[in-house]
Amino acid sequence: MLSCKELVANSSDFLDSQLNLRQRLAVRMHLAMCYRCRRFIRQMRLSQRVLRALPEQAIPELEELSARLAEQRRLQR
Ligand SMILES: [Zn+2]
Repeated sequence: MLSCKELVANSSDFLDSQLNLRQRLAVRMHLAMCYRCRRFIRQMRLSQRVLRALPEQAIPELEELSARLAEQRRLQR
C-alpha cells in the first residue's frame, strides 16, 4: 500500500501517464481509499489543464498595454 507521501511524489508522473502498470494500479488503489489524495490529484489535474490552456504566444492585449505604458513614460519625460 502506497503512503500519501509516496503518492504525492508519484503524482506528476501519474498525471503524465509515466508510471508503469503496477505503479498506476498502486496509485489508483490509494486514490480509491484516500479522499485527501483524490482531492489533491484532482487539483493537480485542474492546474495542469489551466497551464496547458494558456496561449503560447504573447497576448496581443498585453503587448498593446506595454506599448501604451512605454509611450506614456516617453511623454512624461
Ligand atoms: Zn493518501
